[in-house]
Amino acid sequence: MARVLRVARSSSLFSFGSRSYSAEASHVDVTKERNVQWVFLGCPGVGKGTYASRLSSLLGVPHIATGDLVRDALASSGPLSQQLSEIVNQGKLVSDEIIVNLLSNRLEAGEAKGESGFILDGFPRTMRQAEILGDVTNIDLVVNLKLPEEVLVDKCLGRRTCNQCGKGFNIAHINLKGENGKPGISMDPLLPPPQCMSKLITRADDTEEVVKARLRIYNETSQPLEEYYRSKGKLMEFDLPGGIPESWPRLLEALRLDDYEEKQSAAA
Ligand code: AMP
Repeated sequence: MARVLRVARSSSLFSFGSRSYSAEASHVDVTKERNVQWVFLGCPGVGKGTYASRLSSLLGVPHIATGDLVRDALASSGPLSQQLSEIVNQGKLVSDEIIVNLLSNRLEAGEAKGESGFILDGFPRTMRQAEILGDVTNIDLVVNLKLPEEVLVDKCLGRRTCNQCGKGFNIAHINLKGENGKPGISMDPLLPPPQCMSKLITRADDTEEVVKARLRIYNETSQPLEEYYRSKGKLMEFDLPGGIPESWPRLLEALRLDDYEEKQSAAA
């Protein structure tokens, strides 16, 4: 079933045309007619991209990261690129209007290719963005990924991408001791294969100063979204227990997706 989410370009106001849905689910019902519409919340470096992208492959819905849309716009040679680079390189948020336009264009292009459903990563990030999204469609579930703040800076600084295959890696060794009743956390680095080793790049906004600014902005501007979605009964909190090998099966369990593939073939 197609999902429609459009922005009227002639207007400076956001006016998405849309169809709304009534589904509310904390898990995937494979008999349901439309694909999932999920949002991933969480601080920079928590792993939204990693888990959203794995779930998107599992569920066959696009993983749409507004940070990627911003980086694509930055890499283009248009006037938007210059406007964005100063904002992004200081760790600040791009205006709601620009980000909603980038997202609308991405959704329209996907829809033209027959995409339906989505896992949004990095959107919404402000209350205004959440309201705009809520005005046009019904989000089924918001997954709030959590890690102790102490490890987030190291995780961002350890992030690397292969500029050829596009895969993400992390060279950080995380080993936080548990204290005051809080569990410790350890994560092995996710090292690239030899063919990617010489092609690794670091994001321009993954410097210590900018990561700290991004974390501060998250706490001030984006954290209120947790309460917004909690009050709507849509928030699923997920404390990551460690790296991907420990976290991925636990996340699937929490989403009641651990036997998803079996259920799907049974329903086919
Ligand atoms: P990310 O890859 O999600 O960390 O995003 C990288 C940068 O893109 C952010 O620091 C912002 O400057 C910008 N950005 C991404 N998503 C949004 C959003 N929803 N609202 C405003 N700015 C955004």
